[in-house]
Amino acid sequence: MRIRRLDPTLANQIAAGEVVERPASVLKEVLENSVDAGGRRIEVDVERGGTRLVRVRDDGSGIHRDDLVLALSRHATSKIRQFEDLRQIGSMGFRGEALPSIASVSRLTLVSRQAEEESGWSVEAAGSARVSDPVPAPHAVGTTVAVRDLFFNTPARRKFLRTEKTEFRHLEGMVKALVLGHPELDVSLVHNGRQVFRLRAAAREREREDRVARVCGRRFVEHALRVEFGRGELGLQGWVAGPRAEARASDPQHLFVNGRPVRDPVVRHAIRAGCADWLGADRVPGYVLDLVLPAGDVDVNVHPAKHEVRFHDSRLVHDFVVRCLRGLAGASLLPAGSLPAADASPALRPEGKAATGVEVAETRRPYGGGEHSGRRTEVAPSARGASEDASAPLGPLAGRYAAVAGQGGIRIFDVVAARREVIFNRLQAAAHAPVPSRPFLVPETHPVGVEEADRFEAQEESLLRLGFEYRRVGPDRIMLREAPLALAGIESSEIVAVLAAALPRLASGDRHDRVPSFLRRLVEGLEPPLDWPRVGSLLQEVEALCARPESPSGRIWVELTEDSIVSLFAGTGRK
Ligand code: ADP
Ligand code: MG
Repeated sequence: MRIRRLDPTLANQIAAGEVVERPASVLKEVLENSVDAGGRRIEVDVERGGTRLVRVRDDGSGIHRDDLVLALSRHATSKIRQFEDLRQIGSMGFRGEALPSIASVSRLTLVSRQAEEESGWSVEAAGSARVSDPVPAPHAVGTTVAVRDLFFNTPARRKFLRTEKTEFRHLEGMVKALVLGHPELDVSLVHNGRQVFRLRAAAREREREDRVARVCGRRFVEHALRVEFGRGELGLQGWVAGPRAEARASDPQHLFVNGRPVRDPVVRHAIRAGCADWLGADRVPGYVLDLVLPAGDVDVNVHPAKHEVRFHDSRLVHDFVVRCLRGLAGASLLPAGSLPAADASPALRPEGKAATGVEVAETRRPYGGGEHSGRRTEVAPSARGASEDASAPLGPLAGRYAAVAGQGGIRIFDVVAARREVIFNRLQAAAHAPVPSRPFLVPETHPVGVEEADRFEAQEESLLRLGFEYRRVGPDRIMLREAPLALAGIESSEIVAVLAAALPRLASGDRHDRVPSFLRRLVEGLEPPLDWPRVGSLLQEVEALCARPESPSGRIWVELTEDSIVSLFAGTGRK
């Protein structure tokens, strides 16, 4: 067979195969155009799950009368001019393919008016590359795109459409994703003449939170931590499930890169790793997060429907996200005095318990972003210490030791002592910010002596501040409901036992010394289990915390310097 050039309609239909899968993909492209045009008020009107009609009206800049036909022609765009522009895409669209592709498989009407014009102009195309000449049509400044009878001329594609309900679900999901990524937009959705929602532009924090609650459910927001970090040119902002969030099938998972909704396995992995400390390693948390980075650091021209991106330095992005999120739970890891107390707002009491004196509105604004956020990421030991690329330690040796080779020699750590020291420091930080704690799924009751139970009762307030929540449920019984996150993995019976043993210290001795002395006694009584997969980051954390290998509770590491290794062999054999 000889080679022939495809006729333009067929070429458009082939291109449509890539971007137009169903009504929701039509809507995505059309909405993106409205956003690119600077529209603020966007009305979406659909009928029969979008199979009969998808119509979007915006108040953006509009299209010049003489460009209307061009807008429906292939490879025509106002968004890029030359190859270099591809490296710095600031708009949602850039391929110049969406409208002609959609027009080739539907009946499309485009009505638009720019500010200088007296009336709007309208063009139509119906399943072919031929576009009608513009005719005057009344319209306010802005654009309306109406797409009717999708796939009317491609029955094979039409067969793949699902029920009206399913298609509508996809449409709704699409609008919601856009709304989450663009709080500045006022968006309404009407289906078969009935308004499904209208979300007004959200400028203030409370409004943004409300908006997320309406889209993702109030439950999600109530149990979510606010993320607001910036470091250099990178930023991460949004919400992520906090320690009290239960896993649900409906958990939102919305990732945006510079406001563009995308799927990205690298960031997804990083989110999971970043939240693992409080959610467990195997759980994908609910999240609504927007990653902001310079347009030049990310390639958006990877996928025809622009669902995916490629980061120029994905390792950097990954580590940044992990650090931001770890830092969220890590304020209590800050060594005492490294931050002004007022700065250290509480993160992990999303329900704002009265007992801590923390208000709900306060608690969900943990590390308040702003000018401090960058610095915070830098000073938090969790950021320095808990990175994933910790060189794997050797061990466990003799059940509890681990060796790490460094620049000047080898350090052998007592992992149990290291964990105790980390726990001590995390709890000690309670002087500056509430300690992150986690409730037990099933609170257990434990027997103690009557005198001990009295002490528990007397110290309820102070222990609550340290992250322990319990109740006396009998003359000699304590029910432990919640314990600091730092004690994750330790049985509740063991916690009650060590608390009982350490409690007398809270009631005696010098006032300033009571808490540290109590905590010392507490950690010395603990036998924390060896969590080997996380030993690397534990050791980094302890090194960041302790300048010296000795702590009041004992030796944390010994060091074999190169010199001492050499001297071990000196004179032991033939030269
Ligand atoms: P792309 O978005 O990749 O440029 P499209 O086929 O989606 O390609 O749109 C073609 C052109 O039509 C756009 O570049 C833009 O100039 C114009 N356009 C489309 N929709 C709108 C709109 N709602 N408001 C203003 N201009 C629009
Ligand atoms: Mg477009």
